[in-house]
Amino acid sequence: MAVSEQTVARAASLRDELNRYNHHYYTLDAPLVSDAQYDSLLNELRAIEAEYPELRTPDSPTQRVGSAPLGKFPKVQHPVPMLSLGNAFNADDLAAWRRRAEQIIGAQPMSYTVEPKIDGLAVALTYINGVFSVGATRGNGEIGEDITANLRTIRDVPLRLQPIDGQPLPERIEVRGEVYLPIEAFNQLNERQAHAGEKVFANPRNAAAGSLRQLDSTITASRPLRFFAYAVGPFSGVDLNSQSETLNTLRHYGFSINPDTRLFDDFAAVVDYCHEWMGRRELLSYEVDGVVVKIDDFAMQRELGVVGRDPRWAIAYKFPAREETTTLLNIVINV
Ligand code: NAD
Repeated sequence: MAVSEQTVARAASLRDELNRYNHHYYTLDAPLVSDAQYDSLLNELRAIEAEYPELRTPDSPTQRVGSAPLGKFPKVQHPVPMLSLGNAFNADDLAAWRRRAEQIIGAQPMSYTVEPKIDGLAVALTYINGVFSVGATRGNGEIGEDITANLRTIRDVPLRLQPIDGQPLPERIEVRGEVYLPIEAFNQLNERQAHAGEKVFANPRNAAAGSLRQLDSTITASRPLRFFAYAVGPFSGVDLNSQSETLNTLRHYGFSINPDTRLFDDFAAVVDYCHEWMGRRELLSYEVDGVVVKIDDFAMQRELGVVGRDPRWAIAYKFPAREETTTLLNIVINV
């Protein structure tokens, strides 16, 4: 079916609008709209592109991660891109994700990790012979910012890895994870900022990003940022064959690994655990916006690869955005 002029114009205007929101959210740490509004516009654009693939431009926000760095910090090229994640909102979406994976690697026994999706800022930490040498933001996925001095101030970021059973440390390993600001620290920071007539942050994620991208690392040091490790980028001198083995190894090296991470070999149990998380979200001292399900085996991950900006071997089971949660609660209360 030929695409109408109206649809072409709508896709272009959605691209412009979303790129502007990305710049404010990722580069300036000051969102213009709520996540729910942003997600609904992005979904509209995705739907148009799915129907008319010829409208999918390389600069479309559906194809790109984050936004360009601000230029305050030296740039770092990520040797392996830092990706985003596809989304699932219910059990059917999760089942469809697994079916798509099976179409590529065949129906075979699979294990899955399920990890809380911490709502913070993704960073990559490079260790050379066990010593923390460079730390960078995700940036636009290909190029991030060198914020090594600021990352050094975070107490969960080991400056030197702990050897395991006397074995030599990897010659080089890139550890990826999320920097976040606990909710109480966020509230206190905003109170202090308001009191001093300074910028107030929209949410803990923006506060974490703003705190980490300070030119003066003493300001970063004054904010109680935390870090959970959840992945590795390129590595050499160590043998890692699965996500669960990687998390275990990182824990021994001295990283904080989220204690609610689980390994399942039964997909029904994965779905149950995802549902269980809906209620648990409110009990945590930090923000999570979903859980991430990953196929555990690295050989399978390699075979599955990447589509657009999302790995095929992982998916984020997203909770309703806060704004939507509030609306839903209001509806329930009003009935
Ligand atoms: P995403 O947040 O949906 O998923 C990818 C990110 O998840 C990774 O980069 C990583 O940082 C994080 N993550 C946390 N725990 C993880 C784990 N255990 N394993 C792997 N990754 C983990 O994707 P995104 O592209 O970073 O951001 C999209 C989100 O940002 C949406 O929620 C959107 O609403 C919001 N956003 C809002 C605006 C706005 O203007 N309000 C603009 C842009 C984006």
